[in-house]
This record gives sequence, structure tokens and C-alpha cells, in this order.
Amino acid sequence: MNYIHDTIAHLKQTSPAQCEFYQAVEEVLESLEPILENSADYQKNAIIQRLVEPERQIMFRVPWVDDDGNIHVNKGYRIEFNSSLGPYKGGLRFHPSVNASIIKFLGFEQIFKNALTGLPIGGGKGGANFDPKGRSDSEIMRFCQSFINELYRHIGPTTDVPAGDIGVGAREIGYMFGQYKRLTGRYDGAFTGKSLLWGGSLARKEATGYGAVYFANYMLQDNDDSLKGKRCLVSGAGNVAIYAMEKLYQLEAKPITCSDSSGTLYHESGIDVALVKKLKEGARESLAVYLETHSDAKYIACADYPSDGHAVWRFVADAAFPCATQNELTEADARTLISNGCILVCEGANMPSTKEAVDVLLAAKIAYGPGKAANAGGVATSQLEMAQNASMQMWTFEEVDTKLQQIMKNIFDTASNTAAEFDQPGNLVLGANIAAFRRVADAMIEQGVV
Ligand code: GLU
Repeated sequence: MNYIHDTIAHLKQTSPAQCEFYQAVEEVLESLEPILENSADYQKNAIIQRLVEPERQIMFRVPWVDDDGNIHVNKGYRIEFNSSLGPYKGGLRFHPSVNASIIKFLGFEQIFKNALTGLPIGGGKGGANFDPKGRSDSEIMRFCQSFINELYRHIGPTTDVPAGDIGVGAREIGYMFGQYKRLTGRYDGAFTGKSLLWGGSLARKEATGYGAVYFANYMLQDNDDSLKGKRCLVSGAGNVAIYAMEKLYQLEAKPITCSDSSGTLYHESGIDVALVKKLKEGARESLAVYLETHSDAKYIACADYPSDGHAVWRFVADAAFPCATQNELTEADARTLISNGCILVCEGANMPSTKEAVDVLLAAKIAYGPGKAANAGGVATSQLEMAQNASMQMWTFEEVDTKLQQIMKNIFDTASNTAAEFDQPGNLVLGANIAAFRRVADAMIEQGVV
């Protein structure tokens, strides 16, 4: 339809060189076709034109001094994308690949993901092109403090609530919260993903990975199947991947791979999650070190990856959980998964499948859980953390986990019912995008032209 073409053409002109952002927008707009065609209201209110333009984009300099006294300058970002459903909510990513396109694609996805949770949270995202790899603890602290020296004036428990993402975990949130508190004099829920010692929520750390696996199980249950006994490929070795693997074991499935920025680990008898946790959460070591304990495992260095994709998706398995980063699953990877008999792809990461890969997965009609639905458990549990902070309560692990399961079930039901309503049963991309869009767009209309 014309509006997709026109919107993308306009974005290319007004926001040049942001290919990841165009990719995220294109995917959403394509699936909105059936609802936009029949709604003069959405067109009259210029909902699409307003949706793709962030309400506010903050870009700033982050200067800091390393341990040898050298001065570095990074780029900091916070994109406050859409606040129709609540305060801006979304993580901060510290990674050398971060630029305006990456943060905008993540912020755009976040609007829809947050809407799907059914909770009162708007969409935002931020970060910096800072590489934490190899940096000392004091360097990380100084970077976080410098980052907050600018960002503190824009955030707060009812305005914008950052959390973690790639390169930002409880340690970084701690340093950022400390500096926020010092500058504002306030002790409030301006961040989520906090330490359990001072305002964090039980089960927040586990929530994204656990949530993605719950979502996968709901998809399978819909076909009278379950994860029990399934061999699973997982990519990544961060927070999402680790707790996805943990939950897979709890549901009697077997994760046989994981990966990091230098290579892929394959362990036929099942990944030793306790060891991966120790390597990654403790010493922050490469997965290659895993072989010192398990000599029967295999490690494939990045240099030996296939030229058209990622080694992790080339192993034979029943299910795949991309839990690392964007565009890590290519068209060739998708074809290999399907020809190897894979029946489910469930995304723990944000936009891990390329557009061509998504087309292949949808055409094959396997169970495909798009990230904005399947990985929404993290941000949903962040909202549960906000609720606990605002009411000065602390819920038990079981209470939070039960709510998380219910939220993931609701997201699955909403996406699945919406797909059926629009005559595309099983197409959760379409179902998730339309259901989320309706909630955001209707709120925008009710709030007027702002
Ligand atoms: N970074 C996570 C995401 O992509 C979590 C965001 C949050 O908890 O605010 O959804």
C-alpha cells in the first residue's frame, strides 16, 4: 500500500541512514495494512505519521577519563518515543554498535511491546556507543556517572524510567542510580533492574528469558505440544540467554548451544548453565573457557561462521531461541532451521531475525514468536518493579513469577486472537502488531493532537 512506501520514503529523507529503524517500521506497517485500510479515523488523525516520529530525542556528549588518565568521548542517547500509554519505559544499551538508528529501532519496537503487556507504560530507549568490554570497574562507574550527569534531568518515576539492555546490568544501574540520587536528592523508582538490596524486584533478572520460554510453551500448547524433551538452540550468553536456558531445563527441554561475541558453544549433552553463569556473571570471560571444564563440547570461533549467517542456527534441533542481538538470524539460517526440522522460533532478543528470515519462517508456518511479544516479560516485570516501588512493597519471587506467566499468556492470547480475527491464524507478527497498534493509536486519538 502507498502509505508504507510514502512513510518509508519520508523517513529516508528526514532521518537519513537509519536502516535498522526503517526495518522495524516497515515490518510493523506491513502488518497494519488490514486495519488501516478500513479505518478513516487512523488516517484522519495521522496516527502513522505521528507514531514514527519520536516525541523527543535527546543526544548528548559523554566524556570520561580512563584508568590511565586518557580522556574519551562517547555519544549518549535517550529516545522518548511515545507516552500515550504511560511514562517512557525501556532499557539503556551500552555497545559499540549503538547509533541513532539502533536506538530508534529499539524505541519503536518498545512502544508496541509495552502496549502488548497491557500495562501503563510508554515506549523509550537509550544508550551509548561505549564498549564496556575490558573496562575496569572504576571506568564503568565513571562512564555511568558521566552519562547520568546529562540524563538525570530527563528521567523520573512518572516521566521516563530506564532499565538495562545489552551491556547494562545491575552493576551499571547501581552506578547510574547513585549518581541520579546525588544530583536530584531523590530516592525513587526512576530506574528498574535495580539490586535486590535497594528497591529491585525479585524475578526481574530472570524475567526476559523465563518469559520467552513461557511464551514458547504457550505457542506449543496451542498445538497440543510442549517443550518437554525438545532440543533447543539458544544464542547469546547474557541475561536473556542464561535465564531462557535455565527455564528450558525446568520445563524438561535441553539447550544445546549458546554464543557470545567471539563464538558459539555446542554441547550435545546440554549446556552447563551454572558454568555459563559463572563465566559471564562473575568473571566476564569468553565462552571458549567452557571447554576447560567440558572437553566434549565444541567451540566455533566467529571467523569460522558460514558467510551467509550464524553457526548457532546450523545445528539440528527442535526449537530456536535467538537471545543475543538484532539481525543475528538470516534468511539462510531460517532455511537451514526449517530443513533441519525446527518447529519453533521464539525471540528473546529485539528484532533478531532479518526481514527475509521472518518471511521464510512465516511462509513455513512454524510457530514463530516475534520479539516484541515473546521478550516482553522483561519490561513487564520492570513495571511490576515500578508498582512495588510506588507502593513501598516487596513481593515474593512466586508472586512476581505468577504475574509474569499470566502476562505472557495474555500476550500470546491477544496476538493469537487478533491474528485469527484478521484471517491469518497463527501469524503472531500480524496479531501482535495490530493488537499493540490499536491500543496505542486509540489512546493517541483520545489524547488529541500532541
Ligand atoms: N531492555 C529490555 C527490553 O528490550 C527491558 C526494558 C525495561 O525493562 O524497561 O525490553
